[in-house]
Amino acid sequence: MSYQLDTGICHRIQNATPNEGELFNGSHTLQVLSLKKVGKQTEGVNLPSDRYRIVLSDGVQFIQAMLATQLNEMVVDKHLTRFTIVCVERLSCNYVQEKRLVIIMALRILGQVDQKIGEPVSIDASTSEATTPAPERPPQQSVVQPSTSTITAQPASRPPPKGNWHPIEGLSPYQNNWTIKARVTQKSELKHYSTQRGEGKLFNVTFMDETGEIRATAFNQVAESLYPKLEEGKVYYVSKGKVNLAKKKFSNVMNDFEISLEKNAEIEECFETTNLPMIKYSFVTLGELQNLNKDSTCDVIAILKEYSDVNEITSRATNRTMKKRELTLVDKSGFSVRLTLWGNQAENFKPDEQNPVVAFKGVKVGDFGGRSLGMIASSTMTQNPDIPESHALRGWYDSSGSGASFQSHNNAGGSFGAAGGGGFSRSELKPLLEMKLEANRIPESEEKPVYFSTRAMVMHIRGENIAYPACETCNKKVVEDGGAWRCDKCDKTLAGPTYRYIMSFAVSDHTGQLWFQGFNDVGDTVFEKTANEVIELKDRDETQYNLLLSKACCKSYNFLLRAKRDSYNDNNRIRYGVSRILPLNYKEECDALLDLMDTPWGQQTLKSESDMVVY
Ligand SMILES: [Zn+2]
Repeated sequence: MSYQLDTGICHRIQNATPNEGELFNGSHTLQVLSLKKVGKQTEGVNLPSDRYRIVLSDGVQFIQAMLATQLNEMVVDKHLTRFTIVCVERLSCNYVQEKRLVIIMALRILGQVDQKIGEPVSIDASTSEATTPAPERPPQQSVVQPSTSTITAQPASRPPPKGNWHPIEGLSPYQNNWTIKARVTQKSELKHYSTQRGEGKLFNVTFMDETGEIRATAFNQVAESLYPKLEEGKVYYVSKGKVNLAKKKFSNVMNDFEISLEKNAEIEECFETTNLPMIKYSFVTLGELQNLNKDSTCDVIAILKEYSDVNEITSRATNRTMKKRELTLVDKSGFSVRLTLWGNQAENFKPDEQNPVVAFKGVKVGDFGGRSLGMIASSTMTQNPDIPESHALRGWYDSSGSGASFQSHNNAGGSFGAAGGGGFSRSELKPLLEMKLEANRIPESEEKPVYFSTRAMVMHIRGENIAYPACETCNKKVVEDGGAWRCDKCDKTLAGPTYRYIMSFAVSDHTGQLWFQGFNDVGDTVFEKTANEVIELKDRDETQYNLLLSKACCKSYNFLLRAKRDSYNDNNRIRYGVSRILPLNYKEECDALLDLMDTPWGQQTLKSESDMVVY
């Protein structure tokens, strides 16, 4: 197979100006002449990942470039080797001490040949030293048909044009003279710290451009002067910062390096509206969230339906207080999902208008209440972004969406926002263990119950206090007073009490055991007797009563539960109250299982046994 190299492209890359966008994002067919790992240890800096220098030829000339680290795998896996034909899809240019440094950001492998095509010469003899054989002969016709681009002789190297900036992805401790143009996507508070060496202040920001993100930190006086200057969402030129290895412990920003902003750091707001680094989104609809795994990140764009006030909660893990605010998002998929903002972002959140379009990048997926979303340090939020998806959403909401009703991912009404309990939902059925893990994540500040559907077997019923004497009118507890029963609420004397069940019982399934609390309907269902009859039996014949209790066990039911965090005597736990108890209808259960087998999930499970969850 022969390949057509893009003759002339090396020359164009070497002489490109920053506004030649089609050159940086085009598809250029080139051949790899050599690949070389750049020393790991340079100037005492230990690089966490290798970097590769690559020499690329267009059949007539060759240029040197660096491979972006995300492409390293291609080299390690030996897909990218000497003479490989590649299509370079994205590149950028940096300037290091007046020298142009080309970085290959994205490439695609087209094929492998076993020899050099043509007799390419170095584009700039002064930069050709280390890695490539110096050409001995003048360029000849390549073995494949060259394209018709003409090459004009021009000095190859020239000073960086004004307004040029470095991609964040290309920043490393080697460079002294860089400028990035980036958006502040996150800004911390100005924090006080104290160490053995003394006290101080610090804050950090995350800068993002289209190639990546990097965290920057400033201390003390520098922090104080820069703090008011840097605003979330705005774009800045940043230069003369010091690039160091990232302290990953303190950050989840995806970069091996971070910037230390010291006295001489230069930061200038960028007011240009053209050529702003646009955030690249890959949106999923709110409905599609159910296909994503918990803890994965995604981009969403949605209408802000409503938002809560700021709440303060104390993390049980760290004992630190945090501010949070809940946003309710809706989109065309008909779903409504809750998204949590934290700290600064929660406090300073202000919608631009009544129901703005909000785009989020890199928000984390949670499974609370079916599906939820949360901002993390590296997430960004933009209101009413000027992108087609935003305008489409606006149009939909204003014409029909505002009147639509939305469903949450938990049909049983598990989202905090859901007012009622909904009903038992077979499609949301959760094993006890899964339900328990999810319920344990109910924040302490949460006052509304969370609903779950589950199926479990009654294993044990507490016999001591199974019912209480109640007023038949208001169901309140009544007390016996000198042989007479009196209801204070209804202010009347009763002929006798009507007992009502108040039950505490253990259930289990194949994943574990839990205690449930239930009221009258639970007792009616499991004993098929009224509480009056059962109390009468208990008083008359303890043995028969115990037999009744044990006979009620080992039966399975479908339950709708309301789980609620319960702080009682410093004993913080989740209480599971039974909202509905439903005896199993075996025909219905079988039909549901047959239906399940016909779903894509069922088909997939049947196809691949290794995917099956076996308890
Ligand atoms: Zn009463």
